[in-house]
Order: sequence, then C-alpha cells, then structure tokens
Amino acid sequence: MELDSKCPTGPIETRWDRHRFNLKLMNPANKRKHTIIVVGTGLAGGSAAASLAELGYNVKCFCFQDSPRRAHSIAAQGGINAAKNYHNDGDSVYRLFYDTVKGGDFRSRESNVYRLAQISLNIIDQCVAQGVPFAREYSGYLDNRSFGGAQVSRTFYARGQTGQQLLLGAYQALERQIGAGQVEMFPRTEMLDLIVVDGRARGIVTRNLITGKIESHLAETVVLGTGGYGNVYYLSTNAKGCNATAIWRAYKRGALFGNPCFTQIHPTCIPVSGEYQSKLTLMSESLRNDGRVWVPLAKGDVRPAAKIPENERDYFLERRYPSFGNLVPRDVASRNAKMVCDEGRGVGESGLAVYLDFSDAIQRLGAPVIKERYGNLFDMYQRITGEDPYKVPMRIFPAIHYTMGGLWVDYNLMSTIPGLYVIGEANFSDHGANRLGASALMQGLADGYFVLPNTINDYIASAKLEKIDDSHPAVKETEAQTAGITMRLLEIKGTRSVDSFHRDLGKLMWEYCGMSRTAEGLQHALSKIPEMREQFWHDVKVLGAGEELNQSLEKAGRVADFFELAELMCLDALARNESCGGHFREEYQTAEGEAARDDDHYSYAAAWEFRGVGIPPTLHKEPLSFEYVHPAQRSYK
Ligand SMILES: Cc1cc2nc3c(=O)[nH]c(=O)nc-3n(C[C@H](O)[C@H](O)[C@H](O)COP(=O)(O)OP(=O)(O)OC[C@H]3O[C@@H](n4cnc5c(N)ncnc54)[C@H](O)[C@@H]3O)c2cc1C
Repeated sequence: MELDSKCPTGPIETRWDRHRFNLKLMNPANKRKHTIIVVGTGLAGGSAAASLAELGYNVKCFCFQDSPRRAHSIAAQGGINAAKNYHNDGDSVYRLFYDTVKGGDFRSRESNVYRLAQISLNIIDQCVAQGVPFAREYSGYLDNRSFGGAQVSRTFYARGQTGQQLLLGAYQALERQIGAGQVEMFPRTEMLDLIVVDGRARGIVTRNLITGKIESHLAETVVLGTGGYGNVYYLSTNAKGCNATAIWRAYKRGALFGNPCFTQIHPTCIPVSGEYQSKLTLMSESLRNDGRVWVPLAKGDVRPAAKIPENERDYFLERRYPSFGNLVPRDVASRNAKMVCDEGRGVGESGLAVYLDFSDAIQRLGAPVIKERYGNLFDMYQRITGEDPYKVPMRIFPAIHYTMGGLWVDYNLMSTIPGLYVIGEANFSDHGANRLGASALMQGLADGYFVLPNTINDYIASAKLEKIDDSHPAVKETEAQTAGITMRLLEIKGTRSVDSFHRDLGKLMWEYCGMSRTAEGLQHALSKIPEMREQFWHDVKVLGAGEELNQSLEKAGRVADFFELAELMCLDALARNESCGGHFREEYQTAEGEAARDDDHYSYAAAWEFRGVGIPPTLHKEPLSFEYVHPAQRSYK
C-alpha cells in the first residue's frame, strides 16, 4: 500500500494556505444535504461537531458519558500553547514549530507541525471570544507560563483547570448547535464498530449504554475524536473510561494504525501507593515552573527532606541539563527520575519517587502567590497523600499519560479508509515520538475548529456516494457482528473479573513496553499477551445481561480490545530498533544515557495494517523528510 500523506510542498509558511485554496468548497445550501457523524465530545470532537454544524452540515454527535462536557479533556490542568509572543521573549510561529519537531525527536511531519504552530494563534483568539477565562496579568494581557521543552513562556492557562474551561467553551458552541437542531446529540452511546460500504466509511454501530440496544447510524463521513489509549496500561493518568475501542475497531476495518508504541510517560504524577489502586493522578507540568526536582545525593538516605542539607541534595535535572533545568521535556525528565530511583536514591516508602520542592519559590514569592498559581493542585495533592506541599516537598514519579500513536491520517486528517477522519489524541499526527506539554489541547482544538472544517468539504464535494439505509447488507452484517461479540462476552461466565485481567495486562505492558524497553522484554511480552488473551476469552466473568445498563460488559469489550492493541504496541516497539522520544530501547542509547536515534533506518512513521487477530500485521512506512529543522541529537544541556 502506498501511503500518500498529501502534504503540500513549497515554502512551509504558505503550505496550509495554498493547500486550502486548492481544496474544493461546498455551497452552504448543499451542506444542509449532508450528514457527518462525530464520535467524541472532548476538545477535538466537541470543537469539530460545533464547527461543522456552524458551517451548515447535519451532525450526529456521540459520547459515552452522560453529558458531552464530561469528556476526559475536562481533566487537563496545565495549559495550552500558542506562539503569541505576548512576553516578547523571542517566541514565534517558527520557534513553536522548531520546538515541536525537535521535542518529538524528529519523528513527525514538518508540514503538519508548522500548520499547528500557525493555527495556535487563532485558537487563543477564538477561545477568548468564547469567554474562556484565561489567566491575565495586571495589565490585562493574557498571562503565560513555561512548559517543558521550551525556553519561552507560551502556555496560556486558567489556573489548573485549563481543559475544563476550554471544554466549556467548546461545549457552549456545541449546545448552541444542539439547540438550533443542527446537531443531534447521543450521550451514553458507545460506538462499537465502523460501517464500511464499498471501501468508504458510511456509519457506525452503537450500543445504547442505558438500554443495551444495538443500532446503526449512517452518514456521508465519520469523524473519530475518541481520545487516547493510555489505559491499556491499566494505571494511567487518563480518566477510567478512556479506551481504544472506536479506533481499534476502525483499525480492524482497514484504517492503518500509526506509531502504536509511541506513548508518553509524564514525570510528575503521584506515585503508586498500593496493589488495589485503579487510577493515577497527575500533578501538572506547570508545577515545574516553580518546583525543583531533587533526590538525596547518597543512596538509601531515609532522612525526611527537611533534614537533608542543601549540599547533600542532587538537583539532578538542573545538574545534567543546565539550559532547560527542571523544564526539560517529559521523556527526558521521566527517564532521569527512573535512573536515580534505579540507583537506589528514590524517596518515600517504595523508593519509587523523587521530590518536587517548592520551598525556594515560597521563600522568594510567598505562599499566597504559589497558592494563586497552583492552589487547586496543592489541595488535590494534600487530599490524596495527606501531606501539605506548602510545608514538605511533593513526592512524584512518572506514569503513563498520553499516546502519540493513533490512527494514521494524511494532511487532511483522513485515515486510510476514505471518509473516515480522525482528530485529537485519537490520531497519530503531530507530536512524533514525544509530545511537548500543553500541545495536546492545542492540537485537539486546531483539528476540530480549524483543520477539519476546511478539509472535509473536499471529500464530501468530490465523493460520489450512493444513498444507503439500514437494510444495506454491510449495515446488517456489522450490526450482527457487534451483537455477536456482546453475546460471546456474556456467555463465557468464567471466574475472573474484567479488572483482574486488565490489571495483569497493564503490569506486563508497564514492565516490558513502558518507560524503557528491550528486545528480550518485548519478545517475552509478545509470548505472554496471546496466552493472557486466550485466558480472558475463556475465563472472564461478565455479570448481567446485554439489554440493560451493564458496566461490566462495557469494560469487557474495551479490555478485549486492549489485549489486541497491546500486542501491536509491542510489535511496533520491537520493530523500531532505535530510541526516540518516549520510545526508549535500552540497547540504543548514547554514552550519556540519552535516546540514540537511527535516522538512516527509522526516519519513518510506522503504519500497521490489520490482517486478523493472531496474524502478524503488515508494516507500511511513511518516510519523513526534514527540510527546515535538521535532525540532530536532541540536547537540552
Ligand atoms: C490528567 C491530565 C491532564 C492533562 N493536561 C493537559 C494540559 O494541561 N495541556 C495539554 O495540552 N494536554 C493535557 N492533557 C492531554 C489532553 O487532555 C488530552 O490529550 C486531550 O484532552 C484529548 O482530547 P480529545 O478530544 O482527543 O479526547 P477526549 O477528551 O478523551 O474525548 C474523547 C471523547 O470520545 C468519546 N468516546 C471515546 N470512545 C467512544 C466510543 N467508542 N463511543 C462513543 N464515544 C466515545 C468520549 O465519550 C469523549 O467524549 C492532559 C491529560 C491528562 C490525562
């Protein structure tokens, strides 16, 4: 299969403009004749559904929560990047582009990233116009703070609730269209399969999560904004409901999966505290603006932090990376935290934590200023750990947080199934092998508010689509297959809970396909996963029935998909014999322990094609070329 990224050529500054100009437009009166399905109401799906409806399309929008405004985007804390250069500290569209390509360790497309940096400016304007209450300075200008991987301050924020405030903006825009009858909203409805007719995406099969009814919905195009798949690891900072089912089932219908092994470990999470924990909590990266990361210099030093004098502390990020200090990118900060813990210098009972210390900042700025900046995060930390971070340093450790991989899409955000678009965290598009902090919200909103509304017209205007209805054989067949999976899960009547299988899979993935990976470990995981999957399909216990509210059934379907996805992630990690960004293969590191890329052999986006469960998928490669930011060893020193 030839992967055509449809990336424009020529001067990078004008690529998006020229591309848009060449795309077909659609007469507003004709838009009313077309229906678009949008699955997802997070920042990506919510902004897309609202914008497409605003343009005049009929939109059917789906989410599994009880309200569109409960999408996981609401949890985003720290902020959203934009190259406004309000601080006059040297920022520009080009610098945001440069930082993102470099931060992604040269595994993303230059054209996409440049467009993202350009659009970042529009996003802030749009959100301000919607009334999103971004933090402001005394002068009235919007305030900025710094995030990892950048030496400028370009992160816009609303205390530690940026995702919530941005989502309220998108949600209001969506509600307006729901009120106007332009969007039909289906909450508590889970997409379980994609309907493909003559090779094109034409609809979805869903399960009503209250009644259990399985139904089909048809349209001219389908958009997936269904979020990331970090919960394959069981413990992650993602909301418990986040899952991969929508993109996974689309993959099984022919959409290629891009870079599945590119996952992000966030350095500042509250450490795991016990076997039965089901969720990890993020402490926003913004805290690294004022918090200093350290461990004791000596191994096994168990004195309380306050008793360890300054000269017996190792501020290891500041020591190793004097230019970026505590604001190195996430992959670098996480690996270094693991390294000092592996050396026996970790803190807390488990030894799997490092300190994030605010005492200097409190002394310099005073507690009220720190409270104003991070008050809700400090409260959250105190409620969970019982410790007061104004008095003792926070203890933090890396945890799974974000997935850069996702369905492969071209520059128009269309997958390899014509008519299937994928936006936000669900696609693989812009972050390469490592995402910079505060860039996910930027990408989700860029995709939904600005990119998709421009590119989708071109497909709808050119595709000659026959009218279909529920009686079409492809619809009937997909519905029957969906009902079949549900029945099969209910009939197993085994002895183990869904969660117990999920927990075991998560542990295996964290150990062998987590923060660092080896060929040997990945091969071990690849031998275990099919065994565990077999066991799951023979011994899982799903109580209740199909035609009712049944959360155990919902979870079982999602975990069944995680078992298959986990295998693909390990295969991808094994096939990439290099280290880049969050993909750290221990065999490939520099003398200083940094990720060693192999550009001669691996400068490509991996795109995997499904060939059947248990059958090795086919790897396709989209070569990456760098005309503007020349690949070099990433240095933050
Ligand atoms: C704790 C935390 C803090 C973060 N903080 C930041 C930050 O400060 N800045 C930043 O840039 N990024 C941050 N991120 C990352 C960012 O929040 C996410 O990448 C982003 O919000 C994803 O948005 P999305 O619209 O792609 O998906 P989501 O917000 O996850 O939305 C997915 C939507 O799809 C729906 N859905 C999924 N599957 C189905 C299905 N099968 N059927 C029907 N509906 C379905 C869901 O109901 C939901 O509406 C953070 C992430 C976490 C975990």
